[in-house]
Amino acid sequence: MQRYFIDKECIDHDCIYIDAYNHKHMQRVMRYHDGDDVICLYDGHTYIYQIIDIDKGILKKKEEIYENHELDVDITLIYSLPKNDKFEFVLQKSTELGVNRIVPLLSKRSIIKTDAKTFSKKYERYHKILKEASEQSYRNHIPELSSLIYLDEIPQYLSDINLVAYEEDAKQGKHHSFYEAIHSHYHSMTIIVGPEGGFEQAEIDKMKDMGIISCSLGKRILRSETAPLYMLSVVGYSRELK
Ligand code: SAH
Repeated sequence: MQRYFIDKECIDHDCIYIDAYNHKHMQRVMRYHDGDDVICLYDGHTYIYQIIDIDKGILKKKEEIYENHELDVDITLIYSLPKNDKFEFVLQKSTELGVNRIVPLLSKRSIIKTDAKTFSKKYERYHKILKEASEQSYRNHIPELSSLIYLDEIPQYLSDINLVAYEEDAKQGKHHSFYEAIHSHYHSMTIIVGPEGGFEQAEIDKMKDMGIISCSLGKRILRSETAPLYMLSVVGYSRELK
């Protein structure tokens, strides 16, 4: 059954007055008729609603269903901004892999030149990517996207376990930290990934002073958009496939 995340203002008691975007999807893409059922998600709850008037976009609640497709850990990804559309790729894929929060970081070697204000203009577009990826992958929540931060602001996003992927650890054969971290006891994890050119040594030192552990992601050097997906996959594997 098709899934839709619903904005709060569309809900009135047992009815949903669907917004224009979802309405268009229901009518033109899915070609729904009166009487068809869809899944609606809001406030972390999941419901079956019946379409009672497809032309006006009115739905009526049938029942709540109880399902959980979320990872049992809260994961924050702090991701140093890569070139243009790579960020959108990571938004979509990390949502599929279960990330809870994405924090864009502007680091020393970020190629892209932007600032918090310019970046915020793209929020609507980014939110749409997150919403659609959440619907497609059966998420119960849409991941949060924070505003653009600088290295000094990292401490507010730290978790039980905090890891920065550092390719120099990989090159020196120091492969143990990530394995040890995922086999420890934790409820939340922050993972940090650098840009195309990697982090500078001084940036890594600063993060270590914040209590963040550097880690290798194996013997091969991954592209900056591959690294967070590898990390999220490993966490998902270790938590769910047993
Ligand atoms: N230009 C660098 C590689 C940067 S890779 C070089 O050639 O050495 C981009 C980011 O991905 C890095 O900042 C790091 O966070 C992550 N990364 C990629 N491969 C990695 C690996 N094998 N181990 C740890 N981190 C890795």
